[in-house]
Amino acid sequence: MKKIQEYSVVPSLPGKLAGLRVIASNLYWSWDPDSIELFRRMDPQLWESTRHNPVMMLQTIDQQVLEELADDDGFISLLEQVSETLDKYVNDKKTWFSREYPEAVDKFKVAYFSAEFGITECLPVYSGGLGILAGDHVKSASDLGVPLVGVGLMYQHGYFRQYLNIDGYQQEAYYDNDPFKMPLHLQRNPDNGTRKITVDFPGRKVVARIWHAKVGRVNLYLLDTNLPENRPNDRAITYQLYGGDKEMRIQQEIMIGVGGVQTLAAMEIEPCAIHMNEGHAAFSGIGRILRLVEEQGLAFEEALTVVRSSGIFTTHTPVPAGIDIFEPVLVDRYFSHLYNRLGIDRKQFLALGRRDPDNDLEPFNMSFLAMRLSAHYNGVSRLHGAVSRSMWRANWPEVPVDDIPITHVTNGIHIASWISREAGELYDRYLGHRWREDPTAREAWERIDSLPDEALWRTHELRRERLVSFARQRLKNQLIERGATSQDIEQSDRALDPNALTIGFARRFATYKRATLLLRDVDRLKKMLTDEQRPVQFLFAGKAHPRDEEGKALIRQLIHFARDHQMRRRVVFLENYDMIVSRYMVQGVDVWLNTPRRPMEASGTSGMKVVPNGGLNLSVLDGWWVEGYEIEPNTGWAIGRGEEYDDLALQDQVEANALYNQLENDVIPLFYDRGSDGLPRRWI
Ligand SMILES: *Cc1c(COP(=O)(O)O)cnc(C)c1O
Repeated sequence: MKKIQEYSVVPSLPGKLAGLRVIASNLYWSWDPDSIELFRRMDPQLWESTRHNPVMMLQTIDQQVLEELADDDGFISLLEQVSETLDKYVNDKKTWFSREYPEAVDKFKVAYFSAEFGITECLPVYSGGLGILAGDHVKSASDLGVPLVGVGLMYQHGYFRQYLNIDGYQQEAYYDNDPFKMPLHLQRNPDNGTRKITVDFPGRKVVARIWHAKVGRVNLYLLDTNLPENRPNDRAITYQLYGGDKEMRIQQEIMIGVGGVQTLAAMEIEPCAIHMNEGHAAFSGIGRILRLVEEQGLAFEEALTVVRSSGIFTTHTPVPAGIDIFEPVLVDRYFSHLYNRLGIDRKQFLALGRRDPDNDLEPFNMSFLAMRLSAHYNGVSRLHGAVSRSMWRANWPEVPVDDIPITHVTNGIHIASWISREAGELYDRYLGHRWREDPTAREAWERIDSLPDEALWRTHELRRERLVSFARQRLKNQLIERGATSQDIEQSDRALDPNALTIGFARRFATYKRATLLLRDVDRLKKMLTDEQRPVQFLFAGKAHPRDEEGKALIRQLIHFARDHQMRRRVVFLENYDMIVSRYMVQGVDVWLNTPRRPMEASGTSGMKVVPNGGLNLSVLDGWWVEGYEIEPNTGWAIGRGEEYDDLALQDQVEANALYNQLENDVIPLFYDRGSDGLPRRWI
């Protein structure tokens, strides 16, 4: 078991720098380029080695450096400017929400429950798309002034850090999260003791402390059971994101749901609506019913009605295999002590998670539970909405499939978190600042055509160059760590070409995402890659699930392909895909490639991130791209026309072929169609 708290001597902050602590304590800095510049300037190396963690920086920076900064007028003036911006942001009462819903300000509050939150890299309590989406929701809510509060877990081990062995086989290691060195505040009681919540587990109570992350105007609360009063097994509940077995999973979900409801109560927050981000959060409804029954004396059915009318459920999964399911014995173990207190019997409880309440063999399904405990259900794109209606048809046997009340809310991104500083400044110059505060305002974007081609292209090329130098540096470090030959290591400086057409592919290495579709016809690919007149290069990144051997084999296959000495300049795999790698990639690539097996990509958001950075999408018509391509076909290419296949081998062959054709006939020629000024006008 890991340490609980550590004391160390921290540098003392000169008075003139006191504002740094305030800036570091609100994650608003993570999407404000000036704040980032401020921290980077303090100590560029420390900024990188702490993985962009200003709290850890302030705890470890050299005292001498602080003294020098206090005397640096340029730094102090930037510090003052950033402090002022933050102050204005946090206290601004004129938000989108207050304009649209003046009557609801101070009355309305929505709680957002999620197993992951991807806010920024130094708070690694996320694994992938679902968490990044939750993070972007929280940040967007802050910008828009939506009164939202986030609830989740503070894991000691977030998702794993990926590195590859010399053979290209994925290895996993873990960062050890020390919340005392992270941008988190421990919640305390008025007597300064740690504020704690307790959750009734069978035969014992599990205690958790509450970490508070300020995300602009939004509060995010993360529970942590690593406390000495808990038994070792209970301390381990928040040990690892998606770690352990089914039993660990049910314990974590009880903590998120029931513990999350206790947390809101402890913080005296009474939400009007509860959003469950995927079924992991569905026990929140049970926690709410329990409170209504025990504290307000409601009957179970009454409490259920109240809870349901204020519940919202987002499903993210397009396949039944992806749903959280628990065996009835496990549910008994963790809930039988509550059946009585809820005022129902075992059968009634289990029925909440079953399609057929009379089937004693049916396992307990967290998505069914979430739907029983909410009034609104949505998928994450238009296509996924339709897929979900058909997938959950059995839940509404009397209703025609098109009338099943599952709608969709297409995922989105928090633009400020993903746009490059350079592109953002370009928009500021030509469009004004409005797009930052209200990205949905059409007026803000109306002047987009006034952007000179030249300025847009130069900005984009600059970011491509930055991506290439980042990739070279990363590649070099990877090769050193893998124990590559010194010759190979030296060659990393010559990998990639800052002027070549750069295509990015970064996502989980799940087989349905078909990362190696491109390798189906190696000769055809090699021909493209060795064209010195019109060079093309590919950057890959992504993790395979630790237990997914097939996914790991795909990574290995790519690495082996990229080993060929002709290919290594043109194909680079960046290890440890995370928000840092993601930002460099989406800001610098020309084309974002996505080849999922439709309709497996529920939405996807990575392709959206290239759009404000001037990148184009080349993607199968799946997830969000069905809508994106329909609305604005000029922002990229569709691979195929949205066909679905039963013969998967045939599908791979047809779609690989379509992809090669498109690259050879459309993408590459368009990119290299240059005017006398060197600009690819049609591309721009
Ligand atoms: C945006 C993002 C995702 C989500 O990407 P999709 O593959 O489109 O679902 C996952 N991980 C990271 C690090 C991201 O930045």
